[in-house]
Amino acid sequence: MAQRLLQFVSTGKAMPQKRGAAERRHDFKEIYAEFDAGRAKEQAARCSQCGVPYCQIHCPLGNNIPDWLMLTAEGRLEEAYEVAAATNNMPEVCGRICPQDRLCEGNCVIEKGFQSVTIGSVEKYITETAFAEGWVKPPKPPRELAQSIGIVGAGPAGLAAAEQLRRKGYQVHVYDRYDRVGGLLVYGIPNFKLDKQVVARRHELLTQGGIHFHLNVEIGREVSLAELRRRHDAILIATGVYKAREMACPGIGLGNVVAAMEYLTASNRKGLGDAVPAFDSGALDAAGKHVVVVGGGDTAMDCVRTAVRQGALSVRCLYRRDRKNMPGSQREVFHAEEEGVEFVWLAAPEALIGDGTVKQVRAHRMHLGVADGSGRQTPQKLPDSHFDLEADLVIMALGFDAEDLPALFGAPDLALTRWGTLKIEQRTMMTSLDGVFAAGDIVRGASLVVWAIRDGRDAAEQMHRYVAAKAAAAPRAVAAE
Ligand SMILES: Cc1cc2nc3c(=O)[nH]c(=O)nc-3n(C[C@H](O)[C@H](O)[C@H](O)COP(=O)(O)OP(=O)(O)OC[C@H]3O[C@@H](n4cnc5c(N)ncnc54)[C@H](O)[C@@H]3O)c2cc1C
Ligand code: SF4
Repeated sequence: MAQRLLQFVSTGKAMPQKRGAAERRHDFKEIYAEFDAGRAKEQAARCSQCGVPYCQIHCPLGNNIPDWLMLTAEGRLEEAYEVAAATNNMPEVCGRICPQDRLCEGNCVIEKGFQSVTIGSVEKYITETAFAEGWVKPPKPPRELAQSIGIVGAGPAGLAAAEQLRRKGYQVHVYDRYDRVGGLLVYGIPNFKLDKQVVARRHELLTQGGIHFHLNVEIGREVSLAELRRRHDAILIATGVYKAREMACPGIGLGNVVAAMEYLTASNRKGLGDAVPAFDSGALDAAGKHVVVVGGGDTAMDCVRTAVRQGALSVRCLYRRDRKNMPGSQREVFHAEEEGVEFVWLAAPEALIGDGTVKQVRAHRMHLGVADGSGRQTPQKLPDSHFDLEADLVIMALGFDAEDLPALFGAPDLALTRWGTLKIEQRTMMTSLDGVFAAGDIVRGASLVVWAIRDGRDAAEQMHRYVAAKAAAAPRAVAAE
């Protein structure tokens, strides 16, 4: 039976069942169960169908959230899926790992006083139902086009662009230096947030749709960018950002001081059943160790929660600002605290102390001073405030910068911004090289999956225009649609 909408006045917000911290501390399984049909309808029916839907306005994809909530409340799930998939190439991923508390749910009109609609969980429910019912189909172009597209990077930006371009009929080739498709969805984000099978399922669909994946191929090493430009009518660079930010701090070179991505990749590979000697040797395994993670973003949250699951003796997170001013999702902090992580706010490392390997982190207290140009208060050291933390594994999660792509690709004309990311013409999304486009983290800097998908979709549209215009100008070219 269809549920009447605007139920927020009488029905409270409810999340799907969450596994208890004592249980989930010991495995890498996702922490939330799924809604059942009744609960999904009930929760979707809380929506007030706002005339100005702030949830949609604050979604980078402009997802038509009120409509798919209404369709879910009415039990019209196949249509709800169609609406959700119309603007999003991976709703099953966004439903799980978007920071909804900062985006749609955080801006939901009923949040004040009644708590938001559980948009992400309903999105996950709709999409998982669609997969189970066979409603999710591989991209099927109405006709094949002769032109081919090369995409460097099989993360969310590259995959979203690949699907959009394949739907138009292009011959799409995706190159990635990893052995699996998904980018950070596979090797960065842990299983307890996003099960790897969810990404593998998408990969399978895209392959069935005729997209060609060339894995273990590093552009700039195995194949040059120049060669790629000869092979394809247009290129998309969606390589993400992987250069770990470093900290100048005495003792940084000690053993057991590791970079976050190195640590998370080892853990994810282990979970996937790969041979990981650095994990097996104990170097990248937190079991039986006192762990200190430095940083306050999503990556730091994933490190602390991974260390808990590996059986660390203690896990502390050191962050130089306070809870309110951290970049990571508040929801993740809450989960981490439940799982036993201790947050040391307003503190920064001064030195790492040890004899060959690290034994202690010497830290000092900080306070938040006046705001800088961006409006963020600048953390300042409090004099004579140092203290020591026991540590036999220190994980540095200070963020990422772009690799030097012009050097890596042997393309000195590839223009960069002052942050080292790729410079694009905002309207066309083309880089300084003709026919070479860029999207995702390599343009924005470290960001979010939902923005990578948005950029991938926008870039696909621009690439289509470019190739079609070229085909129209060339006398014997096969016309694009
Ligand atoms: C630990 C961690 C946790 C995160 N958690 C969240 C979260 O909870 N929610 C969220 O929304 N976002 C999260 N993010 C951010 C999100 O993962 C990224 O914003 C998103 O993946 C960027 O997508 P992308 O396609 O631009 O790049 P990526 O996902 O990084 O993919 C880039 C791909 O390009 C490939 N590549 C790079 N160079 C080459 C080359 N030369 N040749 C061939 N292939 C190459 C890489 O192997 C990779 O597969 C997290 C990030 C990290 C690091
Ligand atoms: S803002 Fe909240 S109540 Fe309003 S349409 Fe969106 S989900 Fe529904």
